[in-house]
Amino acid sequence: MARLPLKERAISAVVVIPAAIIVVALAFLQYNWSNQVSEATSLRLADSLQMSMINWHLDLFRDLSQICVALDVDPEGEAPADLQPLARSFAEWRAGAQYPGLVSEFYILPSEDAPRFPTLRYDSSARRFSPAVFPANLEGLGQKLKAAAHGAAQGKHPAQDSSASESGDRGDPQLQSQQFIDSFYAGGALVGWSFDPSVPALVHRIFRGGNSAAQTANGSSAGEWIVLQLDNEVIRTRILPELAQRYFQGTEGLDFQVAVVSGDNTGDVIYSSDPDFGRHEVSDADGTMDLFGRVQDKALGSPVHVFHKPSVSKGPAAAVGVSWFPLLADSPAGLDWQLIVRHRRGGPMGAFVSELQRRDLMISFGVLFLLVVSMAMLMITSYRAQRLAKLQMNFVTTISHELRTPLTVIGSAADNIAHGVVEGKQQLAQYGSVIGNQARQLSGLVEQILLFAAAREGQQRYNSRLLNVSEIIEATLANAAGSLRAAQFTVEQDIEPGLPAVRGDLSALSQCLQNLMTNALKYSREEHWIGIRACLEEHGDRGREIQISVSDRGMGIASSDLPHIFEPFYRSATVAAAQIHGTGLGLALARSIAEAMGGDLTVKSALGQGSTFTLHLPCVKAPRESEVSVTPAVAQQ
Ligand code: ADP
Repeated sequence: MARLPLKERAISAVVVIPAAIIVVALAFLQYNWSNQVSEATSLRLADSLQMSMINWHLDLFRDLSQICVALDVDPEGEAPADLQPLARSFAEWRAGAQYPGLVSEFYILPSEDAPRFPTLRYDSSARRFSPAVFPANLEGLGQKLKAAAHGAAQGKHPAQDSSASESGDRGDPQLQSQQFIDSFYAGGALVGWSFDPSVPALVHRIFRGGNSAAQTANGSSAGEWIVLQLDNEVIRTRILPELAQRYFQGTEGLDFQVAVVSGDNTGDVIYSSDPDFGRHEVSDADGTMDLFGRVQDKALGSPVHVFHKPSVSKGPAAAVGVSWFPLLADSPAGLDWQLIVRHRRGGPMGAFVSELQRRDLMISFGVLFLLVVSMAMLMITSYRAQRLAKLQMNFVTTISHELRTPLTVIGSAADNIAHGVVEGKQQLAQYGSVIGNQARQLSGLVEQILLFAAAREGQQRYNSRLLNVSEIIEATLANAAGSLRAAQFTVEQDIEPGLPAVRGDLSALSQCLQNLMTNALKYSREEHWIGIRACLEEHGDRGREIQISVSDRGMGIASSDLPHIFEPFYRSATVAAAQIHGTGLGLALARSIAEAMGGDLTVKSALGQGSTFTLHLPCVKAPRESEVSVTPAVAQQ
C-alpha cells in the first residue's frame, strides 16, 4: 500500500490550504496596491502638470500686465491733458522690459464725439506721440472699440460684454468664471485694461472728465482709447518658447510637446514646439487650458483640464490659472487661445501610467504564479519522494520475504539429505524436485527483478518479428503448464480464427501473458478457471488491433486499487494482508513490455467477481497470406 498515511495528508492540507489563502490574499493586495499606486502616480503627475500649466499662464499674464502697470493709467481719474508722461512711462517700460519688442505699436485713438487730437502713434525715435493714420489692418479692432464705447454708454463695462452676451443664466460656468476674473481685478493698475486676441492688442479707455459713471449717465460715449498692438513674432519666437522651456523642460529637451492654438484646437497655431503639433486636433492631449478662462468645452466645466482629475480641479487654485485681462467686447470663441500639452516620451501620460500599472501587475502576478508553480512542484516532488521511499521499503520487505521461503525450504532439504534423513531413491527424487521447484521460483524472482530493472533503464533489447497470435499463446501455456497442472486449473481458450499477425518479441510477449496468468493463479480462490481470449478489434483512434485477454473468477480488484496496480512495487492492501506472495512488479513489467511492442495493457475488474487483463497489440498493416494464423475456436487444457 503506497498511499500516504492520514497524518502526512493532514500535514499537507495544513500547509497547502493556508499557502493557497496567502497567495490569493497576496494577489488581491497586490492588485489593490497597484491600483492605489497608479492612482497616486496619476494624481501626482496631474497635479504637477496642472501646476506647470497654471504657472506658465501666470508668467504669460505677468509679461503682459507689466506694461499696464508701467503705464499706470487711472481709469477713474482725469484724462491727461498732456500725453507726454504716458510716452515717458512707455519709454521707461521699454528700457527695462525683458521683451521690449512685445508692443509693436502704441496708438491713442481720439474720442469720437469730441476729438481733442487726431489718432496718435508713439514714435520710438522721438519718444513722443505724433499724428498718424490708424492702420487698415486694425480696422476690426476699431469697430470693436466703437461697439464697446456704445456698450459703456449703456452702463456696462466694455469687458463685460463678452460674458453677458454668451451667458444666459447665473449658473453658467463662463459667467461665474468671468465674475471671478472681474472681482480679481477690482482695483489696482490693471483695472480698465482689456485684451483683444485677434490682433492681439491690449486696450484701455480713458474717459475725459474723469468719472465714467457720470459720463455714461449723460449718454455720452466719449472716450479716448489706448491701443497697444502686440508683436505676434515676439510672442511666437521668444515669449512662448521661453515659457515652454521654463515649465515643460526635461533632461533632454522639452518633456512635453507644447502648442498654443487659436480656436477650438484646429484653428491657427500661434506657437508650437514641434512642426506638426497642434495643427490637427490633439485627441490624446495630457493637458489643455483655455487661456481666457472662457470654458470652451462646457462638459469639462473648467478651463484647465489635465489627463487625470487633479487633487484641486476647481476652486481658487485652479481659477488663479485662468486670471486674464477681460476680453474686449464679443471676441468669438473661435479666436480664444488654447494651450495644449502632450508628453513627448512614452505617449500620453494616462496611457503611460496604465501601461506601467499593467506591467507592474503582470510582473507581480508572474512572480506569484511562479511561486504557486514552485510550491506545487515542491509538493508533488516531496509527495512522490515519500511515496517512492515507502514503496522501496515495501519492496525490500517483500523481496526478503519472497527470498526467505524458498531459501529455507532448500536449506532444510539439503540438511536432511546431508544428515542421511532421506532414504531411498524415491524420497531423494522427491527432495530433488522440491529443491528444483524452489530454485526455479528463486531464479524466476531474480529474473523478474532484472527484467524490470532493464526495462526501467531502457536497456531491454527485444527481438521483434512477425508472430501469429496462437504462437504467443502456445508459448505462454507451455511455460505455465507446470504451475497450471499443479494448481489444477482449467484454461478455456477462445481465439478468433484468421487473426492477422502482430510484430513483437515472442519471449517478452509470452512473459507478459505469463505474468497475467500467474496473477490469475495467485488471486483466484475457489474457481480454478482461467479464460484466454484473442480477437481483432476496430479501435477508432488506434486502428485495428489484436486483443489478448486473460480472465479469472477470483477475488477481483477494489476500484480504489485499480489506478495503482500497474505502478512498480504496488500491492493491494488485501493481498498483502492475506500474505499472498508477490513483489508488485509483475503488472509493471507486463505493461512496459506491452508498451514496448507498441500496444497497451488494460484491466477490468469487479471486487469478488474476477478480473480481465487485456493486452492490446497493433496489427501489422496489409498482412501477407502466410502470416495469417488459423487457430482452433475453443480449446481446453
Ligand atoms: P504482485 O502480484 O507480485 O503483487 P503485480 O504487479 O503482478 O504484483 O500485481 C499488483 C497487484 O495487483 C497485486 O498485488 C494485486 O493486488 C493486484 N492484482 C493483479 N492481478 C490480479 C488478479 N488477477 N486478481 C486480483 N488482483 C490482482
